[in-house]
Amino acid sequence: MTDIKSMYPEELKDLMKELNEKPFRADQIFGWLHQKLAVSWDQMTNLSKDLREKLAAWPLMAPEIVDMRVSSLDGTRKYLFRLSDGNVIESVLMKYHHGNSVCISSQAGCRMGCAFCASTIGGLKRNLLASEMLDQVYSIQRDTGERVSNVVVMGSGEPLDNYENLLRFIRLLTSPAGLDISQRNITVSTCGIVPRMYDLAREKLQITLALSLHAPNDEKRQALMPIARRYSMDEVLRACRSYYEQTGRRITFEYSLVAGQNDSEQDAMDLSGRIKGLNCHINLIPVNPVKERSFQRPARTSVENFKIKLEKCGINVTIRREMGADIDGACGQLRRSYMERENT
Ligand code: SAH
Repeated sequence: MTDIKSMYPEELKDLMKELNEKPFRADQIFGWLHQKLAVSWDQMTNLSKDLREKLAAWPLMAPEIVDMRVSSLDGTRKYLFRLSDGNVIESVLMKYHHGNSVCISSQAGCRMGCAFCASTIGGLKRNLLASEMLDQVYSIQRDTGERVSNVVVMGSGEPLDNYENLLRFIRLLTSPAGLDISQRNITVSTCGIVPRMYDLAREKLQITLALSLHAPNDEKRQALMPIARRYSMDEVLRACRSYYEQTGRRITFEYSLVAGQNDSEQDAMDLSGRIKGLNCHINLIPVNPVKERSFQRPARTSVENFKIKLEKCGINVTIRREMGADIDGACGQLRRSYMERENT
């Protein structure tokens, strides 16, 4: 692997050996890349010129910011990055009182095909490298000059469809010699790739697993999410239980409310029946209309009623606060509108 920013310290040490350099150089380089967020080998002034010249064989590239919009409502920033191969990806910075949270993409595009989602419309382009996931966080921290304290893997792509790179990303992001972000401040959102959920549980990380549920039963879930034809709701919920048992981390369920499809009081009752006894939290997201799709968000009162019904059943539930409504479009829409501009 010559993607130096994706290397663990031990791997960097091996590389130093190959280059006939001392092992401590690996720690210096790791610190420059992951703590000082260097963008060029020349910045690494405590390395010998000779070593910097050797390293120049592997260009250090920071993704280029091709678009950035700031919300005048709440300071949310949407970034569009161009990767070295020309693919573009989206990331979002949200400012909360508890700190700055960055939502990153895990793939360019997505192959999961969820009916309401803009990210999947052009299909999967490719998996992102661990370094490309890190660079979204690093670029935003450099751009704002403010520390990023929380990371959610909820942008474009299905993180568990890029499992090895995701794990590497999490380990590097939480490294004490890097940004040292706490595992508890990381959330990974999945549409429910069951075998990978079990794999992740076995890692015993302290990250939060968010499961995109979006429906109270298999029939309705299948209408929205092709993955639901592969894994039944029972199987997905069993995997969630196991994740909780192995990690002690409460599961978050994401539930995008689509008018007339999954937002009735009966749906709320059925949903609560399905997740009873599971230590969880439900995040209701009134669906973000995507122009290529015809889904509508429910009226505010139906959203409130849905929430109240769940609360009456003793379920922890919040309605996701909408951030950056003025610069928005749903997840993946900035990328899509950019790709359309490029193609005309
Ligand atoms: N592949 C991961 C991450 C996707 S995006 C997953 O499926 O969880 C994060 C969340 O936003 C998911 O719950 C996804 O279903 C939801 N989402 C995507 N498009 C949306 C839209 N237009 N409106 C509301 N929620 C949406």
